[in-house]
Amino acid sequence: MTHALPFFPPDLFDDDRAVLLEAVQRIATATEQKFILGERTAALERALRAETGAADVIACGSGTTALTLVLRAMDIGPGDEVVVPAFGCAPLASSVVSVGATPVFADVHPWTMVVEPYEVESAVTGRTAAIMPAHMFSVMADMPTLRELAEHHGVRLVEDSAVAQGGVLDGVPAGRWGEAGVYSFVQVKTFGTIGEGGAVVTDDEELAHRVRLLRNHGQDGRTRFLHHVVGYNSRFDEVMADFQLHRLPGLAGRLRRRAEIADYYTARFAPLVDYGVQAPPAGRNGRCFYVYSLLVDHRDALRHHLADRGVGSHVYYPSPLPAQPAFARFARPGQFWPHAELACARTLALPCYPHLTDAEVEHIADAVCDFSGGPR
Ligand SMILES: *Cc1c(COP(=O)(O)O)cnc(C)c1O
Repeated sequence: MTHALPFFPPDLFDDDRAVLLEAVQRIATATEQKFILGERTAALERALRAETGAADVIACGSGTTALTLVLRAMDIGPGDEVVVPAFGCAPLASSVVSVGATPVFADVHPWTMVVEPYEVESAVTGRTAAIMPAHMFSVMADMPTLRELAEHHGVRLVEDSAVAQGGVLDGVPAGRWGEAGVYSFVQVKTFGTIGEGGAVVTDDEELAHRVRLLRNHGQDGRTRFLHHVVGYNSRFDEVMADFQLHRLPGLAGRLRRRAEIADYYTARFAPLVDYGVQAPPAGRNGRCFYVYSLLVDHRDALRHHLADRGVGSHVYYPSPLPAQPAFARFARPGQFWPHAELACARTLALPCYPHLTDAEVEHIADAVCDFSGGPR
């Protein structure tokens, strides 16, 4: 059925359609005919540097290649292990595999669904080159502990902050906790756009230089057809850069609205915990409301109940990474990820996009509260 309130709204960019069409027209008809890695990409990188305070931001083709570029720039490859969460999206494991290294899966916290530092620590071996935690849904990973752990074990710290752009933990923006962080600009992310894109964020200028080489076939941007290293095609689009420069000033307001919606949901759902519906933790520190995800005992029943009331919902992710056919061969025999399994069986994400009206948010909360039989 079609939902009156779909989980993925079809009108995310409606307000900016005229701006987008104008940018396409302007860039398409400009005399320089520069469509990738031009002055608009450079301006977006400068704007994101200013926004994050990072020494460098490098725009690239996607969040996934941002991870790959960082791992390659760190010289992580065959024989190396990278500890990643057992619950999360495929690029966490595939980026590691794509550089020839081995992903090692660590279980997550049963409530927040971010990786458990002690599980990460117990997965570290003599071959561990890096740990790569990811922020999940609305909760940033425990970066202070993970940073200490990386320092203590002498391994690199890559922060998959693809979903958390705009989040701040203890005063430090998401993306700046790791030696390098990444952002994704795919449609549904907090700074999503009308196509593919991503960025690497880092204070390490040598690493930034290597990422810049790697994103454009090993070329340095000065001498064409001089390939310093074997690189990738992970360049950034000028129309997208122009559009994102236009969208950037509104990001903080959109994030505030998401947080407001989440606060309302969490307050409404607090009593439901006794009825098998658990909201994420309350609060704003270390949070970024990319996705508002509940933990529900009778998840599929709630999903149907909401659909009957015109409310779309979504399941991220139905299966732990080490249970995926693509990654099963990296699962260590005899190892289990019970919290990841539970999360897969119980998570249900509700709409929380910024242009939901108060009445719509209330309708969604009412629909959830009806289901549980709990108080309204
Ligand atoms: C979306 C996402 C990515 C990948 O970003 P793309 O731009 O889609 O390639 C990586 N990690 C996490 C945690 C993500 O949610």
